[in-house]
Amino acid sequence: MMLLLLLVSLAMSIAAPIEECNRDTVAIVGGTYKVSEDGEKVEYSCPKGKYPFPSATRECETNGKWTNEKQKAICKAIECPKPVMFEGGEYEPHKPKYFVGDELYFECWGGFKMFGLEKRTCQENGKWSGETTICDDGEGHCPSPGIPIGASKVGTIYRVGSNVSYDCQNGLKMFGSKTRECKENKRWSGSESSCRNSYTYDSPKEVAEVFGSSLSETIESSDPDRVEDKSVRRLQVRTGGLMNIFIIIDASKSVGEKNFKTAKNIAETFIEKVSSFDFTPRYSVLTYASKIKRIVTLSESEINTQAEKVIEAIQKFKYSVHGDKQGTNTRAALQEVYNQLSLDNLRNEKFLEHSNIIILMTDGKHNMGGDPSVEVKKIREFLDIKKDKREDKLDIYVFGLGDDISQDELNDIASKKDREKHVFQMENVDALKKAFDEIIDETSAFEMCGLSRDHSKKETKDDNEKYPWIVKLLITRPTEVENCKGSIVTKNFILTAAHCFHLDDQPHFVTVELGPSDSAKVTRKVQNIHRHPKYDPNGKKEKNIKKSFEYDLALIELSQKIDFSPTVRPICLPCTSGTSWALKQRDMAPSCKKHENFLLSGDLVKALFITEEGRNALVQMNVQIKQGKWRQGCLKDAEKVEDFKDVVDIKDVVTDNFLCTGGVDPEVDPQTCKGDSGGPLIIQHNKRYIQVGVISWGTVNSCKGYTRNQVPAASRDFHAGIIPGMEWIKEIIQDELIYLN
Ligand code: MG
Repeated sequence: MMLLLLLVSLAMSIAAPIEECNRDTVAIVGGTYKVSEDGEKVEYSCPKGKYPFPSATRECETNGKWTNEKQKAICKAIECPKPVMFEGGEYEPHKPKYFVGDELYFECWGGFKMFGLEKRTCQENGKWSGETTICDDGEGHCPSPGIPIGASKVGTIYRVGSNVSYDCQNGLKMFGSKTRECKENKRWSGSESSCRNSYTYDSPKEVAEVFGSSLSETIESSDPDRVEDKSVRRLQVRTGGLMNIFIIIDASKSVGEKNFKTAKNIAETFIEKVSSFDFTPRYSVLTYASKIKRIVTLSESEINTQAEKVIEAIQKFKYSVHGDKQGTNTRAALQEVYNQLSLDNLRNEKFLEHSNIIILMTDGKHNMGGDPSVEVKKIREFLDIKKDKREDKLDIYVFGLGDDISQDELNDIASKKDREKHVFQMENVDALKKAFDEIIDETSAFEMCGLSRDHSKKETKDDNEKYPWIVKLLITRPTEVENCKGSIVTKNFILTAAHCFHLDDQPHFVTVELGPSDSAKVTRKVQNIHRHPKYDPNGKKEKNIKKSFEYDLALIELSQKIDFSPTVRPICLPCTSGTSWALKQRDMAPSCKKHENFLLSGDLVKALFITEEGRNALVQMNVQIKQGKWRQGCLKDAEKVEDFKDVVDIKDVVTDNFLCTGGVDPEVDPQTCKGDSGGPLIIQHNKRYIQVGVISWGTVNSCKGYTRNQVPAASRDFHAGIIPGMEWIKEIIQDELIYLN
């Protein structure tokens, strides 16, 4: 034990710098600081509205001095850039400085029309809210390009071929295009510039929104058969192989092992999310320090289209592979992209049809290998991208992390496109992680079914992010109120159980509650209740069945369509194209039978339902569907039900149209309670959820309110099967789903 300790301390003293920096001199006025365990780095933080000056971190240099040691650290008030020029109108107030919470009001002169906000507010990250306010008289060929706050502009003629150029006020850094040209198509070349302070970061929310929409635009436009109607488009998407996604992760010394791990994690999240959409790109993943290391390349066709394998390869890769070659050679990484593209060109005759996305995550500037933007020029030339021509074939997104980046360098590498943003500066890798967790969820362009936030992650607090398709039905009759559950299947329809309604229930009795389980509940009124025509509780009286639940299915048609969001989304139904995508059954002849075989094969099938535990808390219950030899037990327990005691053949009650869960064998299944009626019985496949049944009836009800008592052995639940009801669903919902035969 002694020996081991000795070895450890020896190892540590070797790793530490020759002279230790004095920890007493690093304190910050008005804020807090943290010295890393090895004593090599200090990280400052300040209260909201302030930033650490002269820098957010200090490093212990080999001479035993902290970087900028002579300047005392202090928390200063965050400022937003000050307007330099404004065209076509006025703004006020004019002040020497603008701090967090300050407001600017804009007004356009007569004959000028305002674009953007009349009022902008200085935000906590040192940016003005909203987009650049522009007053345009409509006289130019191109619309007025505007003047971002903090910038000055040269050039006032907006005819085709005219140029404008921008400069940032002293001390501010420019992102976006310095010069823009008015093009034939009445749009400006490049992207809008912005001027910002070094302490200004993009918030995770901003990045999620902007990157998400740019990415979805890119993915959608990569589909050659793109048709505006999205439900039609889905069948035609054959994007596999038409897009290459390069992910480049900085693994230089400054990044450190912990941040590198998070960056790998971001790459995994990204790939996983992309894979849950109806879209299969080819991946190339590499890391770089002094040299590059390949994780997956464009030529490894047996791996690079399979998300799980790419993720596995990333997980296996270790930061230590770069050894002591810890420089930052950004150029080498981009050169590798160029090399892989060149190789691919030799093999792939459709090479030029591919679109390419490059995602670069870095915490700093290059310190070897030369100017990385040289390689960008080579890649553009190679892909035959000329100004305004084939620009859609390449998108380079750059994520700069921390305060030691070079804005100029990252800006040079990133793509510049009108009304899009490709370069981001974030506070740290954790902020980027947060953005990526949100990115694709926020993208409403994809109306995929059965998708939810990864609920293995604890930070997903809202149940409706986990189960966004669950709705609650309130049936308010003159004498009573009843509750049921349902599932969102399209923008206009909710699937539930027919027995939730009395025959004389009016649509206006019913309220559908959607979305987040907080006070701001969204509700919908109902236009029509469609019951399955074969649902007839009294229809089997001659067989001594007091109440029949066969075809216990109802579709509720809403009077106002649902807007999908991360907390409100549809579930997948079998025998629809959405489920083919969810199951990744992308062969040429998807069919209903294939779905059935895939989802409901075997004697025991893992499934789940969602219930309420306490007020507004949704909980997942895992059960097993009993088939084959296990189904006999379900029938036996159904025979014991008082209402069916005179029934000759229990199969007249429990027809093959029902799915059975419950019982205590081979495992104890939780039972459904009364308020669960109408909710979905679900099969989960990877990150996708497919509804196979509607909760209908049970043999025993031992629930009391939200309390679940111990499950009696004879407790069984029966669910109206979706597949037997498909013909009817097809008749009611005609246009919003694509059905398979
Ligand atoms: Mg570095």
